[in-house]
Amino acid sequence: MKHPSSENVPASATMDSVSFPYDAPVSQTLFDRASLVTPGGVNSPVRAFRAVGGTPRFMVSGDGPYLTDADGREYVDLVCSWGPMILGHAHPAVTEAVQAAVARGTSFGTPGEGEVALAEEIVARVTPVEQVRLVSSGTEATMSAIRLARGFTGRAKVIKFAGCYHGHVDALLAAAGSGVATFGLPDTPGVTGAQAGDTIVLPYNDLDAVHAAFHAHPGEIACVITEASPGNMGVVPPRDGFNAGLKAACGKNGALYISDEVMTGFRTSKAGWYGIDGVAPDLMTFGKVMGGGFPAAAFGGRADVMAHLAPAGPVYQAGTLSGNPIATAAGLAQLKLLDDAAYEKVDAVSEEIQGLVTGALAKEGVAHRLQTASNMFSVFFTDREVRDYEDAKGQEAFRFNAFFHSMLSNGVYLPPSAFESWFVSTAHDDRAIERIAAALPAAARAAAEAVA
Ligand SMILES: *Cc1c(COP(=O)(O)O)cnc(C)c1O
Repeated sequence: MKHPSSENVPASATMDSVSFPYDAPVSQTLFDRASLVTPGGVNSPVRAFRAVGGTPRFMVSGDGPYLTDADGREYVDLVCSWGPMILGHAHPAVTEAVQAAVARGTSFGTPGEGEVALAEEIVARVTPVEQVRLVSSGTEATMSAIRLARGFTGRAKVIKFAGCYHGHVDALLAAAGSGVATFGLPDTPGVTGAQAGDTIVLPYNDLDAVHAAFHAHPGEIACVITEASPGNMGVVPPRDGFNAGLKAACGKNGALYISDEVMTGFRTSKAGWYGIDGVAPDLMTFGKVMGGGFPAAAFGGRADVMAHLAPAGPVYQAGTLSGNPIATAAGLAQLKLLDDAAYEKVDAVSEEIQGLVTGALAKEGVAHRLQTASNMFSVFFTDREVRDYEDAKGQEAFRFNAFFHSMLSNGVYLPPSAFESWFVSTAHDDRAIERIAAALPAAARAAAEAVA
């Protein structure tokens, strides 16, 4: 793959070997500085642009649907911080709630009313969640949910699906999506056989494989964890009956069904993906939208299961900054604004952009599949339906990379990988959509002309 190394190679030294313009000198300087003090120059791998090549843009501000980079260029943002910014950047009501909370003090290490209010909001929205525990990241939420499932059932094994990403939990970094999908790493060094040995990885959307695994390991499987509707291998929704089938198989075999809604929760509907398919999990995990742009996440579910968590029960779990007053104020302010009208707006924006993207690609004769899960969507450069991770990996990702760089140079910021969902917000207005429409024809042409 053609991409410059992230080592401190001056832009001029790699210009000849790459097919995209280096037009972000300030970002490049910052990236050079970052690469000296931070591995790969970033604090989360996909941000480094390694899949698509080029200089990652260092953002300095966000306003509604726009981001502005360190070179002073404005972009329409179709990443929305990987989902959280569903009201757009710097929404006045969220900003106000945060400022008010900061002025009252930033962390107490005691319980506070904000945590109660946020937990009540989650419980009110998502019927299967009778009790909830707040944490600071989606990774913590899934890690803790798995521990709780193992503690509750007294069993060790966990079923996960290839291409589903559940954060960088050791036991779940086997055939994971997101950054791991981006790099095509089969696994990661640092996770021992013992840590991953109880993880059974199955193809997504394959209920027969689930039944076979339960049959092969009677009384050993603590839980099945799945993305409620996967977005971390690109958008690959569950086939009709898949989630219901998982729930039934878990129920029959004494295992817990864990639905990871870190991405879909409070984004795909008021009650997340549960609000769409109505399949009640035993445990659920949340993050992203519920933090309003701050580190707040949660896991919750059946009260009898949650009762096993310390201090009510024996399964230990804790966090110095869990339920942080700023994060909970931001999350609560955001959720309070996410009413039916807000979801209608996000859905409408998403549909409009989907139509523009697929129209532009069709006009250039580019084989593609636009896949959706409510207002989440992504484009696969293939002519076949994408049902699982193998299908996703079968796409012509080089076309995405050309498409991405053309969009970027015309002021539209897409996820820097062909294996990620695109995200929109209530703030994407006509002007933002017009700018996307204006950028698309050249990007579609670039995708059509791209060579592997
Ligand atoms: C983002 C994500 C996570 C991890 O959340 P972090 O806050 O990045 O740790 C877990 N599960 C899913 C489905 C996600 O999309």
